[in-house]
Amino acid sequence: MKVGVLALQGDVREHFRALADCGVDAISVRRPSELADVDALILPGGESTTIAQLAQTFGVFDLIQKRIAAGMPVYGSCAGMILLADRVLDAAPTQRTFGGIDVTVRRNAFGRQVDSFETNVEVSHIAGGPVKAIFIRAPWVEILGESVEVLASLTSPDGAVHPVAIAQGSLLATSFHPELTSDSRIHRYFVEEVCKNATAIR
Ligand code: GLN
Repeated sequence: MKVGVLALQGDVREHFRALADCGVDAISVRRPSELADVDALILPGGESTTIAQLAQTFGVFDLIQKRIAAGMPVYGSCAGMILLADRVLDAAPTQRTFGGIDVTVRRNAFGRQVDSFETNVEVSHIAGGPVKAIFIRAPWVEILGESVEVLASLTSPDGAVHPVAIAQGSLLATSFHPELTSDSRIHRYFVEEVCKNATAIR
């Protein structure tokens, strides 16, 4: 199984390192030919508007959307979660997403006073104790579709519970950035469980 990292903007190198920790020699995806070469894709953290615009410029936006619809396994962290969401709040009206996960996410949801923070979260399917979760102007899930599995949630100061790790079919997304830690369990789960169980049509 060949895993690619969408390498247009964001913390691409950090995802390569996390995948290397799992024994995966990933490839950079920028062009249609590179996308055609991979079986699975990681959408990095960064700026979802910029990544979406560059994907259109590089001619891979529609192709990624089609591959997702055909069952390609994709993991998105932070901006990557936004790009996998079917609907986005607090985004420019022109912002497009690849979609695939039936959720509405709110960009920069954790507010200005806590732009960045770290906390430990228990994540379903990830054995061995809580994951250190780093949130950087992170989105949360505001509206959840029926077929979406919640793997982890956080409670905001007003008491509302917001999913921060979700899965639907062969798509996995986290509001936080495991690639910025030395803990590669989420990447390992993606590679060893989500990708292995996927039945993509090429
Ligand atoms: N706020 C960014 C966005 O909207 C995401 C931030 C991140 O990936 N750390 O894309």
